[in-house]
Amino acid sequence: MLTAVPSTTAAASTVARLLQTSYVSDTGRVADAAIRAGLMWRCACTAINADLASDACAKCGKKRPWASDLTPTYCDRKLLEDLRHALADYFDDRPYLRRPAAVSFRTTHYDDGRAWYAGQARLHYTDKRRGELYETGFDRTFVADALVELSEDTGPQDGAVLRVVVPAWGSTPEPGDPARHLYPTPHPLVGEYAYSVCDYAREAAQVLGDGWGSESGYIGAYGLIWGPGVPTLRLWVDHDDDLILHLMDDDREQHIVSLPDGAPSDAYQLRAVAEEIARLARTYLT
Ligand SMILES: [Zn+2]
Repeated sequence: MLTAVPSTTAAASTVARLLQTSYVSDTGRVADAAIRAGLMWRCACTAINADLASDACAKCGKKRPWASDLTPTYCDRKLLEDLRHALADYFDDRPYLRRPAAVSFRTTHYDDGRAWYAGQARLHYTDKRRGELYETGFDRTFVADALVELSEDTGPQDGAVLRVVVPAWGSTPEPGDPARHLYPTPHPLVGEYAYSVCDYAREAAQVLGDGWGSESGYIGAYGLIWGPGVPTLRLWVDHDDDLILHLMDDDREQHIVSLPDGAPSDAYQLRAVAEEIARLARTYLT
């Protein structure tokens, strides 16, 4: 019996090993179980992706859907993370339910105002374009409690939608668990930004993998990303407030890193930006 919750990467390699050692006639069932458990993800093109950290399908290249939160402009980050944790626990406790990539909530109207509705929700799966109605809902669970807290903090507007990414199984370890370092926690807010450009560089180096590293530039004004056998890259913010990636020793070719959701304010958003930086770095250097 497993006594420790494996990190996501450990879980992924365990699944890969199970697939290798399964009889061909059983691999479909093993893969299905892994997908239901949220240890692998299936694209709408039916390809099965083992890399939970990747944001695109290895076969068709399409972006993995439901990989980011959708929140009203004002949404307390801590309360949102509490909700995410409650959702993770909810699905951890119900292994017979297919673990969704994200869950979305709508609003309802109570006597004392508008609130996020726990009684019904939509579950989003990576191989489906539309969410599936979850009629069971989350009443009388910690998810409902977390929604109450969020509603009380700022009552949602009519018609607002709150979509929250559900972390992979085993990826939200308790504080003190060594696996926790996989998910960097934001600094206490300094000004209005949770992360500095050096954090982007460090996270991008992690995404790029073995042999890659990063370094903080002078007083944190820029980040350097270096890798095996390639020139060092520099990541910085230019006069137009664009996040720029270019070769440290040659700035003629500059690439703008797009930040469609603005500056990242939690570990998931930071990872999304880092994946974009890593993607640019790979194209740039080849
Ligand atoms: Zn695909």
